Amino acid sequence: MADDPGSNPLLTASPLPFGAPRFDRIRPEHFLPAFREALALAERDMAAISGSEEPATFESVIAAMERAGDALSRVKRIFWTISSAQAVPEIQAIEGEVSAMLTRYGTAISHDSRLFERVRKVWAARATSGLNPAQIRLVESTYRGFVDGGAALDGPAKARFASIDEELAGLSTRFGQNVLAVAAAWEMWVDEAGLAGLPAPMRDAAARRAERNGQAGRYLFTLDRGDAEGILTFSERRDLRETMWRAFTRRCDGGEHDNRPIIDKMVALRRESAALLGYSNYTALKLADSMARTPEAAEALLMRVWRPALLQAANEQAELERLALLDGIGDFAPWDWRYYAERVRRDRYQLDGGEVKKQLNLGRVREAAFATAGRLYGLEFEARPDLPGWHKDATVWAVSESDGDSRGLLYTDYFARAEKHGGAWMGSLRVQEKIDGSVLPIAYLVANFAKAPGEGDAGLSIDEARTLFHEFGHALHALMSDVVYPSQAGTAVSRDFVEFPSKFMEHWIVARETLTGLGLPPALVAAIGHADDFGEGFSTVEFLASAIVDLAIHRSETPLADVAAAGAKILAEIGMPASIAPRHGLTHFTHVFDGGYAGAYYSYLWSEVLDADCFAAFTESGDLFDPSLAARFRNEILAPGDSRDPMDSFIAFRGRAPDEQPLLRERGLTRPAEA
Ligand SMILES: [Zn+2]
Repeated sequence: MADDPGSNPLLTASPLPFGAPRFDRIRPEHFLPAFREALALAERDMAAISGSEEPATFESVIAAMERAGDALSRVKRIFWTISSAQAVPEIQAIEGEVSAMLTRYGTAISHDSRLFERVRKVWAARATSGLNPAQIRLVESTYRGFVDGGAALDGPAKARFASIDEELAGLSTRFGQNVLAVAAAWEMWVDEAGLAGLPAPMRDAAARRAERNGQAGRYLFTLDRGDAEGILTFSERRDLRETMWRAFTRRCDGGEHDNRPIIDKMVALRRESAALLGYSNYTALKLADSMARTPEAAEALLMRVWRPALLQAANEQAELERLALLDGIGDFAPWDWRYYAERVRRDRYQLDGGEVKKQLNLGRVREAAFATAGRLYGLEFEARPDLPGWHKDATVWAVSESDGDSRGLLYTDYFARAEKHGGAWMGSLRVQEKIDGSVLPIAYLVANFAKAPGEGDAGLSIDEARTLFHEFGHALHALMSDVVYPSQAGTAVSRDFVEFPSKFMEHWIVARETLTGLGLPPALVAAIGHADDFGEGFSTVEFLASAIVDLAIHRSETPLADVAAAGAKILAEIGMPASIAPRHGLTHFTHVFDGGYAGAYYSYLWSEVLDADCFAAFTESGDLFDPSLAARFRNEILAPGDSRDPMDSFIAFRGRAPDEQPLLRERGLTRPAEA
């Protein structure tokens, strides 16, 4: 393959090992021409399938669609990676245009009536054409994709549906950009006196940030979740905690980057599009393809956990209020919760969060994650400095089996940067498939850990270490995928199943063996184990509040004039404590308004039921690295991806349907709600 430096590196096959993307060559100006060319190629592929005179069969329609648009999916995946991990202004500037182009393409496909007719024919004959179960499942999901994309609608309804889709895409881009803009514009400057209580790594990161902004000797804090939670947890300055809490929980709730009009519009448009498809509400549409199947089933689970969680949170608050009173605080406020909870952990369990941050350095936690995958599944990770990342902090790892067989690539990009979206996530630059010979997956992990001075490392809190393991669990799902069709690979499972392999991995970071292996002294390991027992009421209420509001606003069958107000009313009705804010307020709830979790944020809890139940199999065996259980988890849960029904995968591992008791036990919520 000629490597012409003038050619667009997004459109030529990469000569690098594993076909790794040429991040060293890709520049923002390559994307629009690459998208135009790749879209034209994809349109040509799809037109050939749609216009074919051959009989409609699985091979000539469904498998052909799986093969189509190769270049487009490559360009798209690279663009998504960069637009979230390295969103420089030149990339942000074209995001809207890219999203409009992709939406128009998606709409053209789903409105191609000849193509839909051919898919429908394969679907109608699926039971009698000798297909295997994975193929039948693929036919059904392809068909449902068309129907839910408006293919079966008639003229005017179809046109309206398409324009709603396009409008929603634009609104969610604006929503996400508003959240970024508010974070970018916000600064909290303090001097030495403002550092009281903060762990050294947090101080150092704030000092370096201030220095970069030309104010050496001062300290700058941002609205990143890491800084926000750090201030709320550790700062002895109640005024700073209050300032941070107000800014963090009210992002985009009014002001220059107000997201309230956007969410009003989005919820209304979602309800309208669900109605066009014949669903009584948007959640019913979203959940038709989930493991829960109905909004009622999802809500029932949330409410079964809500009552015991409220009771537990009230017990926790009583204890925190007693402690706050000793400091002369008689009006316990939401910005006091994390701070006094940390004090309980430190006083009662001798757990020092600052000490933990010193011990849990990023490099060692990352190694621990790799070692865990090694012990469970025999995987090995080798750094590949010869392969370029999208930023100098993005490191590339070759992943292989213990017998040396290659399993794919993993990119890790862990440090916070101004150009990065907040939070942590996993994504795929390429998914596993073997439709025409084996294609290995390329997965990546992004987080926002504050860099330590000098050596380019970071001290992690337990929550941050847990996040690293969580995202790593998603990456393992992608890397262990063993399916034929790309649409069924790895993490392409339903939303309420996808968080299961990631939540599952979190158990291993807090396992005694892992923490001891990281060099933590026995007393600290024991303290972490116990401290995990305190605060489950708070974190469960915090999460459930967001999940219940998301489900309710997207389930409403009548228009909501003011979605933010409706959310507040729902919380009041279910007895939300004033001292706890939902984990995500609606005006910055990117999962729901700039991600795929609308009506489906409950999925995290649903997945956690599956996870706790499967982890219980390991604790019951007495060996967290039990080789036969690990092999079965890999083969029955990770490898099949979406090639079979998630319930079948679960039962193949556990031997029965999921049970929520292990989750309630793990969270210490097994006491009856009526005390
Ligand atoms: Zn996740």
